[in-house]
Amino acid sequence: MTTPNFPLQDQLRGFSRALFSTWLYHRRFNILFDAGEGVATGLLNRVFGIRRVFLSHGHADHIAGLVNLINIRNLGAGDQTASLQIYFPRDNKLIEFITDYLTRTQKDLSFKLEWIPLEEDEKILLDDQKSKVFMRTFKTRHSQRQLSLGYNIIEQRRRLKPQFVGLSQREINEVIWSKGKDEVAEEFEKIIFSYGGDSRPIDPQKIAESLFLCHECTYLNIEDDERNFQQHSYLAEVLETAKAARVENLLLFHTSLRYNLEELRQGIEDGMARINPGCRVLVLHGDSILDTASPHSWKKRIQRERAREKALGEPSE
Ligand SMILES: [Zn+2]
Repeated sequence: MTTPNFPLQDQLRGFSRALFSTWLYHRRFNILFDAGEGVATGLLNRVFGIRRVFLSHGHADHIAGLVNLINIRNLGAGDQTASLQIYFPRDNKLIEFITDYLTRTQKDLSFKLEWIPLEEDEKILLDDQKSKVFMRTFKTRHSQRQLSLGYNIIEQRRRLKPQFVGLSQREINEVIWSKGKDEVAEEFEKIIFSYGGDSRPIDPQKIAESLFLCHECTYLNIEDDERNFQQHSYLAEVLETAKAARVENLLLFHTSLRYNLEELRQGIEDGMARINPGCRVLVLHGDSILDTASPHSWKKRIQRERAREKALGEPSE
């Protein structure tokens, strides 16, 4: 059974700006992907809803919010006993420093905190009772020196075997009566949500037919990576990736601060005119999720951004 348009963006809350902070909370699964600065301040008491944190890598803009998150979970006015599991790419020195700091400074936690290192292609059950939904890790391409991981939420589903597709219900029923249900149906794994963290374009096979792909898009154009770090993705290749993977929704995040919202909107519109990804395209900009199919929401947000820039004044050099 498929749920169209799942997961809607109302299941998601997040914040993302390249270099500054990235985090994304998926409410349905109580999962936080990455934990950049400001995550606890952004979620307030919703931090008590988080059951699992999945970190993509150890750069500061993805983990700096952990200290406050754990502190609030320990002291705030919410369920202080619910356990929290933090999953991270194994052997990551930067994450180990944070773990060490937290272990030294938070000796008496009111809840059970577990740190769980992960490899690529690991499976983590998310629903203990039925185990129909699970997480599977995949390797991404970011820093040379550390393992970085992306995450797929996968649902075990059943479908008609290809040789029975197109037959009438009566014909199918006859097979079921004579040979049993398993003769006509097969199990398959449906990716319902993918989060890539920071990365060069993700291998489309790893996110094939995902219902909702969150892919970083630091640059609008390849030339904008002036310092040539080659650790991030630019728009055209992200659109190509989404197209090749046949995803249903694409959420761009981790956009560079150099683009204001109007430039971002225009750049994405131009990019989609050149490369039609064949899916809905959304952008997580700051703490807003904007839909490219809804110009109205962009307009309102652009006005707000202009007003805020004016109030803050020019940035000093
Ligand atoms: Zn990074």
